[in-house]
Amino acid sequence: MSLIVQKFGGTSVADAEKILAAARKAIRAQRDGHQVVVVVSAMGHNTDLLIDLAHQVDEDPPAREMDMLLSTGEQVSVALMAMAVHALGSEAVSLTGGQIGIRTDSSYTKARIRSISTERIVRLLSEGKIVICAGFQGIDEELNITTLGRGGSDTTAVALAAVLNAESCEIYTDVDGVYTTDPRVLPEARRVDIICYDEMLELASLGAGVMHNRSIEFAKKFGVPIHVRSSFSDIPGTYIVRESESDSSPVSGATLTRDEARVTVFGVPDIPGTSLRIFSAIAERRISVDMIVQNVGRSGKADISFTFPRAELKAVLAAVQPVANDLGAGRVEQDDQVSKVSVVGLAMARQAGVAQHMFRALADAGVNIQMITTSEIKISALVDRQHAHAALRAVHSTFQLDQRPNDAKTWDQVRANQHQHPDMTKLVERLRSDQLEALTLTGIELDGDQARITLLGVPDQPGVAAEIFAAVGDAGVFVDMIVQSIDSDDGRTSITFTVRRNALPLALKIARDLQQRHALTAVQHDPEIAKLSVSGIGLRSHTSVAMILFRTLASAGINVQMINTSELQVNVVVASAQSAQALRLLESAFAEYLS
Ligand code: ADP
Ligand code: ASP
Ligand code: MG
Repeated sequence: MSLIVQKFGGTSVADAEKILAAARKAIRAQRDGHQVVVVVSAMGHNTDLLIDLAHQVDEDPPAREMDMLLSTGEQVSVALMAMAVHALGSEAVSLTGGQIGIRTDSSYTKARIRSISTERIVRLLSEGKIVICAGFQGIDEELNITTLGRGGSDTTAVALAAVLNAESCEIYTDVDGVYTTDPRVLPEARRVDIICYDEMLELASLGAGVMHNRSIEFAKKFGVPIHVRSSFSDIPGTYIVRESESDSSPVSGATLTRDEARVTVFGVPDIPGTSLRIFSAIAERRISVDMIVQNVGRSGKADISFTFPRAELKAVLAAVQPVANDLGAGRVEQDDQVSKVSVVGLAMARQAGVAQHMFRALADAGVNIQMITTSEIKISALVDRQHAHAALRAVHSTFQLDQRPNDAKTWDQVRANQHQHPDMTKLVERLRSDQLEALTLTGIELDGDQARITLLGVPDQPGVAAEIFAAVGDAGVFVDMIVQSIDSDDGRTSITFTVRRNALPLALKIARDLQQRHALTAVQHDPEIAKLSVSGIGLRSHTSVAMILFRTLASAGINVQMINTSELQVNVVVASAQSAQALRLLESAFAEYLS
């Protein structure tokens, strides 16, 4: 008998009537011949209200007590949902995270799932019951209640779908699917029929609040198709699956992380191990940093900038300041008035000029870019929060995200391909019996054919990045990594990018022309660099990846010149001479995570 998991979010269970409507959907699925597991969130804005209440009592509430409190929201919903099913003439049993046997680690407020025992659910289902599970919560080794992080009910639902081998996981919410960007922010956003796991994971991690990012890690690892749809209608929504909607469109979606903050540590001694100390201190607090830009050292000092969610600013400063003092670095600067605009698309890895296109759109909208980072499937620009909305609209429009691509696929066309990838079986077995949310790597690669160019003293004005990358792109040079950051003294910025080694002479010529035209301070280059890529699932949110990586390279005296991160890959640039050794060391450091 086929099994489906249905998840109802907060607005979908906000009052008695909505709870009854959700219960009707579950009963209908059961009458259609499915076994039904329902996952529910706290009613309406209950979680927000509980958080607010906690802060009225204690400015800095202990995380354990926070989880004890927040888990009550979901407990209310499951009981009411079970009653609703009962009232409508079917049988249901409600279960808390602990009762389902959702075991997590002990990192309160952001716990990761280790295992789920399915016996009880399976038995109840076979008795013909609809099983109503509390989302967002679990218990640790010592039976303490934990929660998975805001939005975590999605992760409960997809995790249950994975371990129960569900046919599909339906996410009922207050929008009728996944859009090219948040439709409440840009009304011109377009609903897509299908989107692939990798793109959705990256979008969710960059701020597309419609799905909890970690739920997509589960879906991808275990091959669970997700159907995001409206609670308030019966029309089909968006399927999150293996395939992308279009193979030709370089960008599939855009996001705005409105409340982002930046910290820059100036004058960090440019020796192996310094980035390690800074980022380890942050990663230990389980904060994922995103845009990381390290200026290539001049006079033995480097400036390191990075961004993270604004709510973590206090924690980040508390972690970084002592390390900066210890290292004898210069001042630590912060800016909490910034937002991050990103575009995501699998096809951009195969196309030239995507970054240039985005920078041009931002320049034409009069938006200044403070920082840039790219990775194989995303480009992010940090902008002043005041300009965030205009920036999002500009990139959404320039990539014509409001229009359906000509080669757009539909669910019916890809439905047949949704079975598990054969070489995943071993991995899935291991994860099932061990750690469901464990770090999962798929490979480590070395690309020795790279060269770097750095432009120093670039004027900090709208349009300069666009002009630079237009010049490079027009010459047919394929640019791989790009980073732009603030300079310490004079309000200018520096831009570093990598190209194939044989394109270096041409790229250098262009760079020197630009130097003349814009009176840049200097053009530096390094023909002897290599890129190491660690690939897997959920790499940015598993903060241990960055820690292991930095620790391994630093202990061998290997300096990290550039770094970029996405949920799919972490890339670091090192000197060519050290790259083979770096590869060997990383392979052994990450051996236990490689499938
Ligand atoms: P739930 O309570 O059902 O989990 P959420 O509020 O967590 O609902 O998620 C749904 C919301 O996500 C929508 O109301 C929408 O404003 C927002 N959202 C953000 N990005 C997107 C996107 N790309 N597509 C659809 N909705 C999005
Ligand atoms: N109730 C929790 C929250 O508001 C979990 C969820 O809704 O997914 O974050
Ligand atoms: Mg949600």
